[in-house]
Amino acid sequence: MGRISDVLRGKGAAVCTIGADEPVSALLAMLTEHNIGAVVVVADDEVVGIVSERDVVRGVHRRSSALLGTAVAEIMSHEVVSCVPEDDVDSVMRTMTEGRFRHVPVLVEGRLAGIVSIGDMVKVRIGELEDERAHLHSYLAAGS
Ligand code: AMP
Repeated sequence: MGRISDVLRGKGAAVCTIGADEPVSALLAMLTEHNIGAVVVVADDEVVGIVSERDVVRGVHRRSSALLGTAVAEIMSHEVVSCVPEDDVDSVMRTMTEGRFRHVPVLVEGRLAGIVSIGDMVKVRIGELEDERAHLHSYLAAGS
């Protein structure tokens, strides 16, 4: 079964981060330029939140264009669910499904060591299922 470390091996450890005092306009620039859906909020290298495009949608609904000048801290989620490289992909996928979020930062001894998205997980799962299918095919072919 795949582990989070396998996912990171494929995509690397880079994580886009932003400070809680940065304006939402800076967050939008980051989401757009990096073509991503969420950014981890940090203060002195510590994870203090996570903010995704869904928070921006809610913020625009509540504050309309005034949102652009407000701080990321106002819309971010403070309680961040994280994982470790040793966690298995299935359990983190389950956590995402139950918690209804699509991004999970990876921490090693409390330090950011990557981020996984539901898209990364689905990619790994499809790869595993394809390998399994090929294996079964060759097994059946060998028996016929
Ligand atoms: P997402 O599906 O990742 O766009 O996020 C949906 C909502 O869950 C947003 O309010 C995010 O701030 C929040 N969120 C995303 N990832 C996490 C996480 N790992 N831990 C806690 N909240 C999260």
